[in-house]
Amino acid sequence: MRTLNKKCLTIAVDGYSSSGKSTFAREIAKKLNYKYIDSGAMYRAVTLMCIKENIISGEKINIKALDLLLSQVDIDFRFTETGNRYETFLNRKNVEDEIRTVGVSDYVSQVSKIGQVREKMVNIQRKYGKDGCVVMDGRDIGTVVFPAADLKIFMTARPEVRAERRFKELQEKGVDVDFEAVKKNIEKRDYIDTNREISPLKKAADAKALDNSNMTVHEQMEWFEELLSELNYEN
Ligand code: C5P
Repeated sequence: MRTLNKKCLTIAVDGYSSSGKSTFAREIAKKLNYKYIDSGAMYRAVTLMCIKENIISGEKINIKALDLLLSQVDIDFRFTETGNRYETFLNRKNVEDEIRTVGVSDYVSQVSKIGQVREKMVNIQRKYGKDGCVVMDGRDIGTVVFPAADLKIFMTARPEVRAERRFKELQEKGVDVDFEAVKKNIEKRDYIDTNREISPLKKAADAKALDNSNMTVHEQMEWFEELLSELNYEN
C-alpha cells in the first residue's frame, strides 16, 4: 500500500461544476492548516476582465486584445477582514462577488478553453503550489497543473443535485435566477470543459473518485480522513 510519508502535501481536487469541490477543498485545507487555492476563481477573473473590456461578444473573443490584457493581468488571493476568508483580487481590486455572477458563468468555459489563458493561469497556480501544503481545486489540477500531486480527488454528483445546489446558492445570495437556466449553464460548462482540446476535464488515472450526491460535508470529511489513514498520513 502507498504511504504518504511527507508532511507538506499537494492535494488536487478536480471535478464537475457545482460538485462541491470548493467547500470540500476548503474544509480539507482548514483541517490540515494548508493553503486553499480556487483555480476556477482565476478563470472567472479573466472572464470578468474580458467582459469589462468589451472584448467578448457571443462566441467571439478578440484574441489580440486578450493577449495584451493577459500580459498585464494580476490575479491574487488576499485575506479580507470583512469576508473573513481569502478573496480574489483582479489588478488589485476585490472581485470576489463579481466573478460569481451569472454573466461570468455564462462565458467562463469559453474563455477557459483558450490556450494562452490556460498557460498564464497554470503558471500562477504552480507558483502558489510550489511549496506544497496546498489544496487546489479545479478541472485539470491532478492531470496538468500538479500531475505529481500527493493526493488526487475527483468529485462528482448527479447533474440534478449539482443544479439544485447551484440554484440554492444563487438564491441565498439574492440572485433572481431560473432553475432551468442554472441547469443549462452547468450542462454547457461541463460539455465545453470535458470536450476542449487543451487540458480537458477528466479524472486522473490515480485519482480517488468521490460521488457526493448523497453525502453531507461532514460525511465527505469522514471519507477524507479514512483516505488519509489508509495512506498512513499523520498531520
Ligand atoms: O470551479 P468553477 O466552477 O468556479 O470554475 C469555473 C470555470 O473555470 C469552469 O467551468 C472551467 O471552464 C474553468 N476552469 C478550468 N480549469 C480549472 C478551473 C476552472 O478550465 N482548473
